[in-house]
Amino acid sequence: MKIKTALISVYDKTGIVEFARELQELDIEIISTGGTYNVLVQNGIKSKRVEEITGFPEILNGRVKTLHPKILAGILALRGNPRHEEQLKSFDITPIDLVVVNLYPFSDVIKRGNFTIEEVIEQIDVGGVSLLRAGAKNYKYVAVVVNPQRYEQVIKELKSSGGELSEKTRIMLAVEAFKHTSNYDATIANFFASQLTEDVLPEIFHLSLGKVKNLRYGENPHQRSALYGDFFNYFEHLHGKELSYNNILDISSATELVIEFDKPACAIVKHTNPCGVGVDDKSVLEAFKKAFATDTVSPFGGIIAFNRPIDLKTAMAIDEIFTEVIIAPEFPPDVLNFLMRKKNRRLIRYKDINLKKVGLDFKRVIGGVLVQEFDSIDLEPMNLRVVTRRKPTVDEMEALIFAWKVVKHVKSNAIVYAKKDRTLGIGAGQMSRVDASKVAIMKAREMGHDLRGSVVASDAFFPFPDGLIEAIKAGATAVIQPGGSIKDDEIIKTADEYNIAMVFTGIRHFKH
Ligand code: 5GP
Repeated sequence: MKIKTALISVYDKTGIVEFARELQELDIEIISTGGTYNVLVQNGIKSKRVEEITGFPEILNGRVKTLHPKILAGILALRGNPRHEEQLKSFDITPIDLVVVNLYPFSDVIKRGNFTIEEVIEQIDVGGVSLLRAGAKNYKYVAVVVNPQRYEQVIKELKSSGGELSEKTRIMLAVEAFKHTSNYDATIANFFASQLTEDVLPEIFHLSLGKVKNLRYGENPHQRSALYGDFFNYFEHLHGKELSYNNILDISSATELVIEFDKPACAIVKHTNPCGVGVDDKSVLEAFKKAFATDTVSPFGGIIAFNRPIDLKTAMAIDEIFTEVIIAPEFPPDVLNFLMRKKNRRLIRYKDINLKKVGLDFKRVIGGVLVQEFDSIDLEPMNLRVVTRRKPTVDEMEALIFAWKVVKHVKSNAIVYAKKDRTLGIGAGQMSRVDASKVAIMKAREMGHDLRGSVVASDAFFPFPDGLIEAIKAGATAVIQPGGSIKDDEIIKTADEYNIAMVFTGIRHFKH
């Protein structure tokens, strides 16, 4: 069925002039609302005003523009249905075959902040949603375009088919419209809900989780998956094979970890857990060597992240191990050329990441998702409390803070043994803290690290002295942990007995 009449009412006028011009060339008659009409006519495109069709002006400052039977019946009529056709005729209603609408930018106003409630209310689009809903409902005869990025595709198809759009296209466009209006209403509902209660997560309204793309598969090949949101605002894929679900997850984890450090740092990550982390006063190469030395087996097929541009020497050192992804804030041209010789290795540049602003954390549960703020709290050295008789030395303190930054990014229960510039043993994801400690010690010993004089970080408090004793036996001389156990007194006493320095952070970093 040929498209004869289009209704255009767009808030975002991007590309609308070019689109309307093409429609006009295809002999499609255009009807438009006030602001849209002005833009079209100023650009030499013929259009009727909605008023001419309805015989009714736009009233209430635009609150009522297109909400009129002559418009909505024109969209909703079933073509070829005798009763509908007859009613259209008797009320002199023109069928509308193409609805081009995008809505008042409700979420933009909220994102902008600093608004009055009246301003927000005016951003609730009523007519536009009705037009989209009507057009999408009647997709068998009508096409709805909500997304300006579709204009080109729609014109292409209209041109190649003599002015028609296929049913497949109309369904696809209807889906886009329904998704858009449902997100739109959810944003509105969430906003007003937040006015009613002290909403703990107002940032949830700042989420615009548009679909970026389908991924080849999920965590495993039998799971379908897709990426949503703004990932590529932060990460640029410079080279290498397409990113997989697991790559994206690890890229995010590795970057979150490495940007914790002020000194040049390197983090090697596998399955979201660090295999090793190193920092150095000057050299990223040294940082990499220290990270790698923690565990020279696990990094195979892992992800390596830096918080400084990589130099050629570092690139050559990395090149010796098989790495899925390399992440850095910058790759100088010679480094990029060198690293690009391996076709499949993915090179990722990241930019402008402020962990305080990266939004929320989600976890699937049966029947829903749990939402929480991102664990972005920084350790303020001021808030550290030395609880033992012996204070940590300057070097121990530096090592404790380093280990604490690492342990935050290790799956719970997590224990990290470290020196001030490198990890020595990491115990991740154990069901008991003692086991996490045992794993960390075992890994350290396997790699020939001497834990005497090391420090240990624990992501949550030691519930019993046994975990602490384990660490002391291994040779640790200083401990950092949140504190807060009912057995704290006993644990502090144990530390004092062995002349251990212990620091409480008052912050827990569970990561499940
Ligand atoms: P224009 O800039 O053309 O004056 O207005 C376009 C905007 O008006 C679009 O975002 C469209 O969704 C919205 N719109 C169209 N009809 C109505 C209506 O009857 N009521 C309200 N509140 N908005 C409408």
